[in-house]
Amino acid sequence: MVVPAEAPEAAAAAGRRFDYDVIVMGAGIMGSCAAHAVSASTCSTTSAPRTASPAPSATRTRRRSTRRCNASLLAAIRSSGAEEVDLARRWGGAFRVRDGWVTAVSEHVGGVLNATKAVAMFQALAAKKGAVVRDKTEVVGIRKGPEGGVVVTAGTGEEFHGAKCVVTVGAWTSKLVRSVAGFELPVQPLHTMVLYWRIKLGREHDLTAESGFPTFSSYGDPHVYSTPSLELPGLIKINYDGGPPCDPDSRDWASGGGDVAEQVARWIEEFIPDHVETTGGPVSRQSCMYSMTPDKDFVIDFLGGEFGEDVVVGAGFSGHGFKMGPEVGRILAEMAIDGKANTAAEADVELGHFRINRFEGNPMGNAKN
Ligand SMILES: Cc1cc2nc3c(=O)[nH]c(=O)nc-3n(C[C@H](O)[C@H](O)[C@H](O)COP(=O)(O)OP(=O)(O)OC[C@H]3O[C@@H](n4cnc5c(N)ncnc54)[C@H](O)[C@@H]3O)c2cc1C
Repeated sequence: MVVPAEAPEAAAAAGRRFDYDVIVMGAGIMGSCAAHAVSASTCSTTSAPRTASPAPSATRTRRRSTRRCNASLLAAIRSSGAEEVDLARRWGGAFRVRDGWVTAVSEHVGGVLNATKAVAMFQALAAKKGAVVRDKTEVVGIRKGPEGGVVVTAGTGEEFHGAKCVVTVGAWTSKLVRSVAGFELPVQPLHTMVLYWRIKLGREHDLTAESGFPTFSSYGDPHVYSTPSLELPGLIKINYDGGPPCDPDSRDWASGGGDVAEQVARWIEEFIPDHVETTGGPVSRQSCMYSMTPDKDFVIDFLGGEFGEDVVVGAGFSGHGFKMGPEVGRILAEMAIDGKANTAAEADVELGHFRINRFEGNPMGNAKN
């Protein structure tokens, strides 16, 4: 849990009603960015430029493969400034694509993020600007404070009094919202796997970022994505996008994820067989979770009900939220502090798209079918 603002003693000495301006619960990328944005804007002595955005896009180069008949995707690829490429000549002919498929690249400025370091960086920056970071502190309750604001209860029994709070607890969001506000927020945890595969002997350099190998997504069945060989030399991460529903508190860490490794192996054998070894399966599997909404759009909203605008929720980042962390964190912080998000308004982003009430009487939310 991350608790920005001044220390309780200072608040009491100054006669303030609340110990903390904003309490942020959950310190993944969203909570850490929100805590950083809160502390940057409430800190009286230091201020960070509100436009600073330390994290680049998650993609360096994106390759898309699709069937030629998907006219709308082709139009989107072209209007985004991407170009179709002859795959046989790119990346040393690593890929084989079925006849009739189209491949496009877009090489706008981007990068591959080191997620762990990015989260640690935002926490460190938040702490530097006055946030109090409470590690290993599970939130078990949120209630209205006797003098307004909120009281947040930790599993240890400790209580924190804040003017506002931000809930960014990832795959645990539905459980927490159910217990605190009594309604169902459709954020479904999925058990997904990060799979590392051995690169065939002599091909190791071909698949590195240095040699220009791209981040890619293959949209089809299965939907597979990858980043260049980077963090573990000689291995490449090629994953299945998705996984079976799970309970975040009782996951099957060892074998959860169904037969995704077999599906990815079959994809590798069809599309990149000369470069990646599938015999024996992936050499490393890491268990992970997506927080999926039915329409794959985020939830960015006030909790409402008895909490009104005192509790802000950021959830359901549906496997594609990390790169948005700095902006989402800033929006959540502004909603908590000002009751509205100027960052979103300035960028012409319609937050109505991310409201909780899109699911009322409409379980699929923004999804068209
Ligand atoms: C395998 C994989 C690959 C991905 N690839 C990409 C990608 O290429 N690009 C991209 O943009 N996104 C990607 N994503 C998605 C991205 O990682 C997520 O959208 C993002 O990390 C969500 O961040 P979060 O802060 O909402 O949740 P989390 O990172 O889950 O953080 C929530 C935190 O809250 C804590 N918590 C839970 N309950 C409580 C409680 N009661 N009290 C206190 N703390 C609590 C948890 O311990 C956790 O630390 C990927 C996700 C996965 C799993």
